[in-house]
Amino acid sequence: MSVCQSTQLKAFNTFGISACADYIGAATSIESLLSLWQAAKKKEYPILLLGGGSNVLFTENFKGTVILNRLLGIKIQEADTAWHIHVGAGENWHQLIKLLIKQKIYGLENLALIPGNVGSAPIQNIGAYGIEFKQVCEFVDLIELETGKHIRLMENECQFAYRDSIFKHQYKEDYAITAVGLRLNKAWEPILTYGSLTQFSHEDVTPEQIFHAVCEMRQSKLPDPAIMGNAGSFFKNPIISAELAKKIKSEYPECPQYYQDDNSVKVAAGWLIDQCHLKGHSIGDAAVHTKQALVLVNKGHATGQSIVALATYVRNKVAEKFNIFLEPEVRFIGAEGEIDSVECIS
Ligand SMILES: Cc1cc2nc3c(=O)[nH]c(=O)nc-3n(C[C@H](O)[C@H](O)[C@H](O)COP(=O)(O)OP(=O)(O)OC[C@H]3O[C@@H](n4cnc5c(N)ncnc54)[C@H](O)[C@@H]3O)c2cc1C
Repeated sequence: MSVCQSTQLKAFNTFGISACADYIGAATSIESLLSLWQAAKKKEYPILLLGGGSNVLFTENFKGTVILNRLLGIKIQEADTAWHIHVGAGENWHQLIKLLIKQKIYGLENLALIPGNVGSAPIQNIGAYGIEFKQVCEFVDLIELETGKHIRLMENECQFAYRDSIFKHQYKEDYAITAVGLRLNKAWEPILTYGSLTQFSHEDVTPEQIFHAVCEMRQSKLPDPAIMGNAGSFFKNPIISAELAKKIKSEYPECPQYYQDDNSVKVAAGWLIDQCHLKGHSIGDAAVHTKQALVLVNKGHATGQSIVALATYVRNKVAEKFNIFLEPEVRFIGAEGEIDSVECIS
């Protein structure tokens, strides 16, 4: 366990929001995780687990203990048809992909450059370029923090859905993800459905080419949090009725729409925001990114509240024009813990 010198959270959230916690500690082992949690619980402090801080917005100072998940370790096992990889929740997601590709273990390349920790990947079932975490997940290991009991949930028990899982619901409070198990098939199949990946042919594309193409696309489209604070896509792509989708399509034939199995339709939130001419719109130092409307950025000294004000403005504008109410993908953290992000911007 290590104690952080400062209680400033700016370095621990990719939005780069200045907010303080009462105490910040890093859990480098299960024992230190449990003792940090139990010490805070004894004092009745609010507790927040944090990975890379790339999916959170601090709306004010956090009046409690932040526990940084730094549980490391990667074990690779070879079986006949697949690789089984057991990864500590505190490992960095992108570095894991790089390490596996170097060892010629493939299947994660479409998910390259997503910031954050491995242990956070199941929580919102991260996805990009045609693949979601659930497709490579074998199991997720958790610990019940009150009792220290270890729990393993197999993939089919995790209730994975679009940016959702059981870890946002039943296993949210008082549980920590400690490791994940990945299963990567040796019979590698490229996924080439999105962006510049469509230019490759299934016959001769290599995983390394996909990895580099994904990194290039992301670097050209998304602001680097190290340069301009952000948390990636701020809003989820809304899922609407086929009826509303048809109405929008008749007025805007170019509207990107993706039919779901249940005949509902997923619409690109970035496109909706762009149609409201909001790229570059700012409130203080909080701004809609000039190239990618789905990303809200911190131009320097944005506060959590200015990001909330901007998100409210964006949501209202999209609702006025399309009768669609956007919901944040980013998790909002108030003084005592997570708060209802939809309520916050309504
Ligand atoms: C530039 C950029 C691009 C992005 N692109 C994508 C993308 O393409 N696809 C995508 O899906 N996401 C994307 N994201 C969002 C983000 O990277 C992912 O959601 C990532 O998995 C978050 O990991 P993290 O470790 O930073 O989580 P954090 O932000 O630290 O935590 C997220 C939530 O999980 C909880 N938590 C953290 N660790 C644990 C734990 N061990 N146990 C229990 N709960 C825990 C936290 O309390 C918090 O509520 C992007 C973000 C950025 C900044």
